[in-house]
Amino acid sequence: MYDINNVFARIIKGEIPATIIYENEYAMAFKDINPKAKHHVLLIPKKPFTHLTDFMKNSNSTEISDFFSTIPIITKQLGIKNYKILSNNGEKAGQEVPHFHIHIISNDD
Ligand code: AMP
Repeated sequence: MYDINNVFARIIKGEIPATIIYENEYAMAFKDINPKAKHHVLLIPKKPFTHLTDFMKNSNSTEISDFFSTIPIITKQLGIKNYKILSNNGEKAGQEVPHFHIHIISNDD
């Protein structure tokens, strides 16, 4: 069950602040509050999906394609070429915030 009061849901609603670096109809990217590298951005869909499995099973192809297409837009905006993406799928995999997100992490300048 999706928790409508999770921190990313509240960022989407504008209830708590975030350093948003990219946004479109379907997705939003903002700086991780506790960065693990020089660049650490979180990319989230605006619709309520709990984790990657939920997103892939319950969103449509436009939403999926738009979501993943934003990655090169964001990395270009950040000026990074070397990066890794990570998504913790489920609490036991280390997922702390129950709204699907991808970490974009880079130590490029
Ligand atoms: P995960 O463990 O994959 O669920 O990652 C959750 C990430 O969200 C962590 O890297 C946190 O530092 C980050 N985080 C938690 N609260 C906020 C917030 N208010 N703004 C930005 N990032 C956050």
